[in-house]
Amino acid sequence: KKWVYFFADGKAEGTAQMKELLGGKGANLAEMTNAGVPVPPGFTITTEVCKYYYDNNRTYPQDLAEQVNAAIKELEKVTGKGFGDPIKPLLVSVRSGAAISMPGMMDTILNLGLNDETVKGLVEMTNNERFAYDSYRRFLQMFGDTALGIPHSDFENALSEMKANKGVKLDTDLDAEDLKKLVEIYKEIYKKHGKEFPQDVNKQLWAAIEAVIWSWMSDRAIKYREIHGIKEGQLLGTAVNIVAMVFGNMGDDSGTGVCFTRDPNTGEKVHYGEFLPNAQGEDVVAGIRTPYPLEKMKEMIPHAYDELIEIMDRLEAYFKDMQDIEFTVERGKLYILQTRNAKRTSQAAIRIAVDMVHEGLIDKKTAVLRVQPSDIERVLHPKFDENERKNAKVIAKGLPASPGAATGKIYFDAHKAEKMAEAGEKVLLVRPETSPEDVGGMNAAEGILTARGGMTSHAAVVARGLGKPAVVGAESIYVDEEEGFLKVGDFVVKEGEWLSIDGTTGEVFLGKVTTVKPRGLEGPVAELLSWADEFRKLGVRANADVPRDAKVAREFGAEGIGLCRTEHMFFEKDRIPKVRRMIVARTVEEREAALAELLPLQKEDFKGLFREMKGYPVTIRLIDPPLHEFLPHEEEQMAEVAAQIGISVEELKKVVEQLHELNPMLGHRGVRLVITYPEIAVMQTKAIILAAIELKKEEGIDVVPEIMIPLVGHINELKYIKDVVIKTADELIKQHGVELKYLVGTMIEVPRAAVTADQIAQEADFFSFGTNDLTQMTFGFSRDDVGKFLPEYLAKGILEDDPFKHVDTQGVGQLVKMATEKGKEVKEKLKCGVCGEHGGDPKSIMFFATTKLDYVSASPYRIPVARLAAAQASI
Ligand code: ADP
Ligand code: MG
Ligand code: MG
Repeated sequence: KKWVYFFADGKAEGTAQMKELLGGKGANLAEMTNAGVPVPPGFTITTEVCKYYYDNNRTYPQDLAEQVNAAIKELEKVTGKGFGDPIKPLLVSVRSGAAISMPGMMDTILNLGLNDETVKGLVEMTNNERFAYDSYRRFLQMFGDTALGIPHSDFENALSEMKANKGVKLDTDLDAEDLKKLVEIYKEIYKKHGKEFPQDVNKQLWAAIEAVIWSWMSDRAIKYREIHGIKEGQLLGTAVNIVAMVFGNMGDDSGTGVCFTRDPNTGEKVHYGEFLPNAQGEDVVAGIRTPYPLEKMKEMIPHAYDELIEIMDRLEAYFKDMQDIEFTVERGKLYILQTRNAKRTSQAAIRIAVDMVHEGLIDKKTAVLRVQPSDIERVLHPKFDENERKNAKVIAKGLPASPGAATGKIYFDAHKAEKMAEAGEKVLLVRPETSPEDVGGMNAAEGILTARGGMTSHAAVVARGLGKPAVVGAESIYVDEEEGFLKVGDFVVKEGEWLSIDGTTGEVFLGKVTTVKPRGLEGPVAELLSWADEFRKLGVRANADVPRDAKVAREFGAEGIGLCRTEHMFFEKDRIPKVRRMIVARTVEEREAALAELLPLQKEDFKGLFREMKGYPVTIRLIDPPLHEFLPHEEEQMAEVAAQIGISVEELKKVVEQLHELNPMLGHRGVRLVITYPEIAVMQTKAIILAAIELKKEEGIDVVPEIMIPLVGHINELKYIKDVVIKTADELIKQHGVELKYLVGTMIEVPRAAVTADQIAQEADFFSFGTNDLTQMTFGFSRDDVGKFLPEYLAKGILEDDPFKHVDTQGVGQLVKMATEKGKEVKEKLKCGVCGEHGGDPKSIMFFATTKLDYVSASPYRIPVARLAAAQASI
């Protein structure tokens, strides 16, 4: 079997396509060699050897040694040098490289092939004693550390000591004699650790190969794969690249550097990079000396610079992506040591993808696929100033519930937060957890931090809806609302003091960290998303409750509203007393009187929404939460509220007690509520229909309202309330003598509804899957308490993902799929969408795109993300 692939002088056995076998580095070295790019000769030991090694009790394939020896012979031939030859020694680097680049995670050894004899040959060959001994001591250091496990610090300490004794600061201040001495000291360090430095270059080579293969299973490499979701077994292992050394440290016409074909921060099309004259590659990385900007090389070694620029352009055109290139110049001659697709910021990723389409380098499809949904997310939310962030202290970590950065003075009471914000303060709302009453304060705050709750807790859902950064479930934080402080570890932060949160990472920072605003949907992002729209098959709607949200959603490209939660309008200051009066009403008449006061207000809300959506569909859900959520629960609030709505405190308390539920999530809510109090449904229907009629008459805007009944589990529930809705609506329409179409549909969020979707479809004009509740009820996981045990589930591998974050494709997802199919069999035109939090989650969208669903609905700030994810799912 072939274990070794050779490359030299314009001819290589490998190609760029062989990344899995040769690793990214090896495959690209081969490809560049074939393309005539000046690459030092060498060979690659395949990733299969690494796999064999671990599968076979840490042994090599039998014929590997033979193939490596032959390759070394070949390398000697093309370089005209000898491996271990005391007169013209061949030196090599031994470099790791897996199929997926894992920068800095694995080991590389440079200058291999030096020993007490060959170092003299190197002096002769280069006529540079200092250089030769510097290379030797570097090799001793790297080899000792990487291959033999001698602590790096032992060598560093010896080096520092030598500099201190000599009274100098820089490595470069040491002369040949010093370095010779250092070589001897280094050998002593080997002895001290009971190791012998191998003078035999073949022993060196095999030890280095083994060290590279070992580094595949090093803790940090394993951790890196874990963090980046690279599954064990997905890759064979690392390849080992053996490359003839070229030297950038041979004088002023030599040097080394790293360059990018575009600016990796902004994406601008400029040649970007750093250059360090008279140095070896690792010097740049180690930061021993500060490199110059690339342009400086133009003055120092002009012809090598020109050639580098030409090669940069060639490589980018060849690989059709921005390249990150390592190079070295040895006495005026340029060598390329590595090229790979460059890492870049989100902003750069978007700009580069769009620019490359305009340049004709890639097509729109490729551009849409190349940008990650998370890139879109990141460029649309405020971020911390990078420098300030680096210096800030992280005091806690919670769930990254709503992306973006926020900084403000902390307040624990939502009303106070609102007041302070009105007074012009930047406010961060900190709560143990939030409830619907806190929405005002949440909206006024820059961001939200809670000590409890999961990814679909109230705080998280509302924050995402508002586009407010939020960190939730930061369990290490103790919040004392009464005394007005929070405590975490030894830190105490009092009300009114600064705190900062990063909703993208979940980090909580002490003090103020300045944020910078996003630029919205314009320029490259807007253009990229318009291409995404050409490819996607899923529609994208918004979850929006008020005209302001609807406007944002439209600006981000929403094609309608998939979910308007009407109860959110009830929490506004001037309305809540009316809502409460409606709840405590003792008779139907009293209730209707209170509802009559709410009607004009709700009608105006809906008019605003319809107006903003300009004829796009708007789905309005009838009241959903249990009524007790609208009533106060604390003693001191009782009196105030009772006075406000004109009943005694005792009466109010009685109502609160009556409405108390042990398990409100499965209690008197959703359709159950309007079955008990049909007059609420009547009022809401009137408000919706009247809004549409008036808009049509007054402003000529045509709307087809979609009235949605939540929490239906049995067809008779839907039938009962649908009759009420239709009767109310038709009467109004007749009375106003207009033509108006409207739909009545249902949420599918109770498993029974999904199972009986064919029956339900007979009564419904549309389905909207409320996947939050559907997940909650299918798993039987209370979404507000899931934080207590889910981390354990994830840590123990019982669940792979938080099912509230990424839809559970095998259970909940199957219910969605099945119900959609069943529904459409009964009613071909039945519109089906998803309005749960999953509607804005790229991973879930990937799944939804495989079903017969028509659209997903997401909070306004997630619309752009959903548009891209939906396009990627269709390509
Ligand atoms: P990494 O994957 O961590 O970048 P590399 O194998 O690319 O590690 O090597 C580390 C450094 O050594 C780089 O700066 C590279 O350019 C330099 N280097 C590697 N091989 C050689 C060589 N044959 N001659 C000169 N420099 C080399
Ligand atoms: Mg490298
Ligand atoms: Mg629900």
